[in-house]
This record gives sequence, structure tokens and C-alpha cells, in this order.
Amino acid sequence: MTTRDFSALPLPPALLRNLDRLGYRTMTAIQAQSLPLILKRHDLIAQADTGSGKTLAFAIGILHRLDPADFGTQALVLCPTRELADQVAKELRRIARFADNIKVLTLCGGTPMGPQIASLEHGAHVIVGTPGRIQDHMSRNSIDLSGVRTLVLDEADRMAGMGFFDEIKGIVRACPKERQTLLFSATYPDDMRKASAAFLDRPQELKVDAAQ
Ligand code: ADP
Ligand code: MG
Repeated sequence: MTTRDFSALPLPPALLRNLDRLGYRTMTAIQAQSLPLILKRHDLIAQADTGSGKTLAFAIGILHRLDPADFGTQALVLCPTRELADQVAKELRRIARFADNIKVLTLCGGTPMGPQIASLEHGAHVIVGTPGRIQDHMSRNSIDLSGVRTLVLDEADRMAGMGFFDEIKGIVRACPKERQTLLFSATYPDDMRKASAAFLDRPQELKVDAAQ
């Protein structure tokens, strides 16, 4: 029987204390199965239903490796919609409270480019955004993804359904080859398996059923 306490994970004490303070003590099934692999830097395809706690799994993966002293962008999370990007950014900021000065920037459409470009000039450790807007910044040279060590594709099935995979391909090419890629999805149909094969390096695959 595997223990499901966050405290069993090799995480910095300050991060564990913050998780505890936020009421996160016991891992959900997807967290218990994915976090040991994520912390070992494996690429991952994680399939689990909505509400299973996928955000916290990749948020911990991103934050435990982040170097606050390096203001280059170290992690990029792609989401299908602005609402989801805002939710993910909010959760990352809550969990990042253990470490000072971690900047999480959201980049989505429907917001003027100017302030986003200004924020990018100041630097952001983590960027959360929609593929269209990230690509827009790439075409203007306002974003530098050359320091990304962790790339997350959140709700990948929805992004595929919205036709975002062409943009995603371009974004992946702008990230270093040496990186960890984590793909989270409620479903993982064959066409997506084909489309995402180029993004992932020997990925571990997990599927967690709602009952777990
Ligand atoms: P998903 O992305 O899988 O749809 P979320 O990451 O949005 O799910 O999480 C759903 C809810 O579960 C959130 O309100 C989150 O705060 C809560 N949650 C996640 N992990 C835990 C945990 N280990 N213990 C308690 N609540 C959790
Ligand atoms: Mg989610």
C-alpha cells in the first residue's frame, strides 16, 4: 500500500508546510501516482477526470525545481481557455507563497498586448497562457522560451479539439529539447497520441479512474 501523504514526497520543508497550511495533506489518486514520476523528471501522459487534482500535481512539479534567482521563464503551462489559465495561475501563486518573489504571468487573448509585453520585459518565472497568445508573442519576439525546463499541456484534449495543436507545435519548437513535458488530459484518443508523440520523450503513461 502506498502512502498518500504529501510529506512522504522528497519536497522542501517550506513547500510541505505551505501545502499543509492550504489544507493539502493527502494526495488524490492522480497526485499519488504522478508526483513520484514528475519529481524524477519523467515525461508524462496523465489521464484523469475533471476535479481529480491535476493542477496541484504539475504545480508541485514546476515549483520544486524553480530557481527564484533566475528571472528567465523556467516553466510554461498551456491551457485551452483564459478561464482555465487564470485558475491555474491562481493555484500556482497560492502554492508558491512558500518562496518569495516567484512571478507567475498569464498570457491570454482578449487582453491588450502592451501590458503583457511590459510584464514580459520584467521577467516571469512561470508563464500560463493560451497557445494563440503565446504564439502571438513569439511572432513579435516579446517572449523567450529558451530557458523553459518544464512544459505542461493542460486539458490537452480540449486544446486538440479547439485546433490548437499547430500553434502548440511551434511553441514546443521554441522550447529547449532538454526539458520535461507533462501532458494532462481527460481523454487520450489515438489522433492525439499521434499529434503529441513529437512533444514527448519516452513518456510514462498513467490513467486514473474516477472511482480511485
Ligand atoms: P483537475 O485539474 O483535475 O480538474 P483541479 O486541479 O482543478 O482538478 O482540482 C480540483 C479541486 O480539488 C480544487 O479545488 C483543488 O483545490 C482540490 N484539490 C486538489 N488536490 C487536493 C488535495 N490533495 N487535497 C484536497 N483538495 C485538493
Ligand atoms: Mg485542470
